[in-house]
Amino acid sequence: MDFTLPAELEDYRRRVRAFVEDEILPVEADRANWDEHENIAEAPLEALRAKAKAAGLWTLQLPKEAGGQGLPMVGVAACYEEMNRSIFGPVCFNAAAPDDGNMRLLSMVGTPAQKDRWLVPIVEGRVRSAFAMTEPHPRGVSDPSMMKTRAERRGDRWVITGRKWFITGARVAQHFILMARTSEDPRKGLTAFLFDRDQPGWRIERRIPIMGPEEHGGHCELVFDGLEIADENVLMTVGDGLKATQIRLGPARLTHCMRWTGLAKRCLEIAGAYVKERESFGTPLAEHEGVQWMLGEAAMQIEIGRLLTMKAAHALDNGSFARKEVSMAKVQVADTLFKAADTAIQLCGARGYSKDTVLEWIYRYARQAKLVDGASEVHKMVLSRSYLAEGDDFWGWR
Ligand SMILES: Cc1cc2nc3c(=O)[nH]c(=O)nc-3n(C[C@H](O)[C@H](O)[C@H](O)COP(=O)(O)OP(=O)(O)OC[C@H]3O[C@@H](n4cnc5c(N)ncnc54)[C@H](O)[C@@H]3O)c2cc1C
Repeated sequence: MDFTLPAELEDYRRRVRAFVEDEILPVEADRANWDEHENIAEAPLEALRAKAKAAGLWTLQLPKEAGGQGLPMVGVAACYEEMNRSIFGPVCFNAAAPDDGNMRLLSMVGTPAQKDRWLVPIVEGRVRSAFAMTEPHPRGVSDPSMMKTRAERRGDRWVITGRKWFITGARVAQHFILMARTSEDPRKGLTAFLFDRDQPGWRIERRIPIMGPEEHGGHCELVFDGLEIADENVLMTVGDGLKATQIRLGPARLTHCMRWTGLAKRCLEIAGAYVKERESFGTPLAEHEGVQWMLGEAAMQIEIGRLLTMKAAHALDNGSFARKEVSMAKVQVADTLFKAADTAIQLCGARGYSKDTVLEWIYRYARQAKLVDGASEVHKMVLSRSYLAEGDDFWGWR
């Protein structure tokens, strides 16, 4: 078992790290570069995106024929961890959710014409995208069988009616992937559609205020009251919606884990610097055993999360859906990010609670990790089902 990163991937990782250190952290340090939703403002973002392209660090995750750099998931894991030392990072490299997952899905299952129309502009950074699945009560997403947004056949078109919410990036997205019900079949009842923001028959009802910093375009509630979609904009085939979701969500969840690991490390980086310098009771904080236990525990949990993430990345690279591996990583890393932010704030004392560091910003952001792309409890349900079905094979070294 070899835990070293191949030289080419290590080179990418180092270059991403240097870019974040030299280009992104200085931008983050100046609040003039922040937008009103606590993300990077458009002007500095566009400048950094141009620099990342020039440095050959743009869209690392996609195959070369789709306009990316062709990194395997293991390499993506190492690089995304570095990118997300700052919340500002991933979007500068075209590696932020939801574009990241949408590009991957389109590159895997889109027809050549769909790739030209819907994927290429995202890869080139000319437009942004959104993925619309979750619905407000009494509809559902933890349980997709409850989905109520309908696509009905009228003539040669599909006509969409329904409601979605928490759709990340909707306010700035041009291209949308939409999940809707086309039949009552429990397995083949959902279909994935593509539409453009300029089409009539839908609207953004509101941008939902949240507790933490927001992705560009926020998290929005959408109403569909007659959006018409042609057959050529059905992704995969009618009834393949659940399959498209599974293809998208496995890697998308894992890329969250990669990014969150980088953010958890940033928390410890800030706390580590403080406890080495700050003294109490005649000794640096770092010399107190209680402090060591807190730092050691957080560091260990981060390493557990990144090993689970790498194992799942390796499984995806080898053609598996890696469902249980992704679920384990998602639960662990979500908890770890939140705990790392909390520990770092505690170790930095009053300074940790202030806005003099980015810890409180990360802490508010971190809370969503246990919810997005499947609540932790649902992932544990998946794991339990898998364990009960597989028995001893659950632990196999495949
Ligand atoms: C910041 C943010 C961004 C998001 N972006 C998007 C997006 O771009 N597109 C999109 O479609 N969706 C998006 N979502 C929605 C997200 O994927 C869902 O919120 C998440 O999957 C949980 O679904 P829900 O909110 O419907 O929870 P519900 O289904 O209402 O469940 C509520 C709670 O009940 C518990 N629960 C549910 N089922 C079980 C079970 N089987 N066993 C035990 N406990 C259970 C869990 O604790 C869960 O948190 C986003 C959400 C957030 C917070």
